[in-house]
Amino acid sequence: MNTIHLFNTLGRQKQEFKPLKDGQVGMYVCGPTVYFRASIGNFRAYVFADVLRRLFETSGYKVTHVMNITDVGHLVGDGDEGEDKLEVGARREGKTAWEVAEEYTNLFLSDMKRMNLLTPTVTPKATDHIAEQIAMIQEIEKNGLTYQTSDGVYFDTAKQAGYGRLSGQKLEDKEGGADFALWKFSPADATRHMEWESPWGKGFPGWHIECSAMSEKYLGLPFDVHTGGIDHIAVHHENEIAQAEAARGVLEANYWLHNEFLLIDGGKMSKSLNNTYSLDDLAAKGISALAFRYLVLGAHYKSQLNFTWEAAQGAQNALNKLVDAVRLWDKPTEADQELVAEFMKHVSNDLDTADGLALVWKVVGDESLPTGVKAATLLAFDDVLGLALEDVVARPLKISAEAQVLLDDRERARQAKDFARSDVLRDEIAKLGLLVEDTAEGQRVRELR
Ligand SMILES: [Zn+2]
Repeated sequence: MNTIHLFNTLGRQKQEFKPLKDGQVGMYVCGPTVYFRASIGNFRAYVFADVLRRLFETSGYKVTHVMNITDVGHLVGDGDEGEDKLEVGARREGKTAWEVAEEYTNLFLSDMKRMNLLTPTVTPKATDHIAEQIAMIQEIEKNGLTYQTSDGVYFDTAKQAGYGRLSGQKLEDKEGGADFALWKFSPADATRHMEWESPWGKGFPGWHIECSAMSEKYLGLPFDVHTGGIDHIAVHHENEIAQAEAARGVLEANYWLHNEFLLIDGGKMSKSLNNTYSLDDLAAKGISALAFRYLVLGAHYKSQLNFTWEAAQGAQNALNKLVDAVRLWDKPTEADQELVAEFMKHVSNDLDTADGLALVWKVVGDESLPTGVKAATLLAFDDVLGLALEDVVARPLKISAEAQVLLDDRERARQAKDFARSDVLRDEIAKLGLLVEDTAEGQRVRELR
C-alpha cells in the first residue's frame, strides 16, 4: 500500500496515515449549510476533501465518505447566538425553511457535479437524524456534562478535561465562554418551520451535535479522518470532539485535516462586499468549474489561495492548453510507472497537488514519450487530480453540422468585417457549448469546459 503522510491539526504535525481497519478509510467531511448558494470559497474545501478521497482510493483503500447536509440548527453566529440560518433563508425567499433547504441542497449537489467532485457514499441530513442527536445528548446528560437554561440544553465545557486541545486554546482565553448549545428551545412567542419534541421541550438541535451523531451512525466512533475549513477548528470541530468524548469516551476521529481560506483580491470573501462568487458568477466571465478546480489544485490546501479574475483566467487558459494537447494524442496505452510513482510521491506528501500539476506539464512537454503512454500516464494522475481528462484524452473535438454552418457563417461575416453579425453568431455558437476565438490563423473552436 502506498504510504501517505498528512498534516494532523490535532498534534500539529505531519504523520504517516494509519487506518483503523486495514485497507479501509472512514472519512467525514463537514458539508454545506443549505440556506444559500455555496460560494467558490466553500468549494475549495470540497476539492481538498475530494482529492484526499481520490488519493486514498488510488492508494488501494476502500473509502466510506460521509458528507452531512446542515439543514437546521446552524445559527448566524457560530457561538449559538442569532437566528437559525435556514429561517433567515426562508424569510429572505418567502418560503419555508424546508423548501429553502431542498432548493439549496439540490443546487449544491449539481454544483458538485460541475466541479467533478465524487458523490459521497452517504449525504445524511441533520433533519433526518433528530432521534440520533437526541440520544447522544441524553448520553452526555447522563454523564453529567450538560446544564439547562431557559434557552436550551448546554454542554458544560468546564467539566471536560482536555477541552480545547484541537485548537490549543485554553478555556479562559475563549471569549464569552466556550459552552455551546446541544438543544435549543423554540421561542415561546413564535413558531419555527423546523421544530421537534424532545425530553427537554420543543426545539431543535444545536449545530455541532449533528456531526457527532451522524458520523457515529455511518462510520462508527472512532473513525479515521475528519476534514473541514480552518474556520471549523476553534468552535465546530472542538465541540464535536467534546461531544463524542462526553457521550462515548472516545476520540471522534484520529486525523483532523483543515484547508486554508480562499481570499478574494487579497481580502476576505463577504456578502457585504458582494464577492461571494458562485460557479455561475465564474461561468458568466468564461471561467469553468473545472478551471476553478485547476486553480485550487495549484496551491497547497494549507496555504491561503488568492482568487483574482486574472488568476482564474490563467487557470482557464492552462486547462484549455492541456485539453487542446491531450485531444490530439493517441489512445492511452500503458502508463509510465516511474512517472506515476513520482506523481504519487508528491500527492502522498500531504497532498502536494501543485507539484503534481507541475509533473503534468512535464509529461505534456516530454517529446521522448509516445503520446499513448503520455495519455495513460496523465489519466493515472487524473485519478487523483479529478480534472475529468478521460472525457478529452484522445478525443478530437467533434463539431456538429449545425455548429459548422454557424462557424462558416461567422467566418464570412468576419471577412466582410461585419463584426456585429460575427458577435451574434459567436453567442449562437456558445449556446451549442462551443467557444470560438479569433487568432491570426482564423477562428479557433474549443468546447466550453
Ligand atoms: Zn460538521
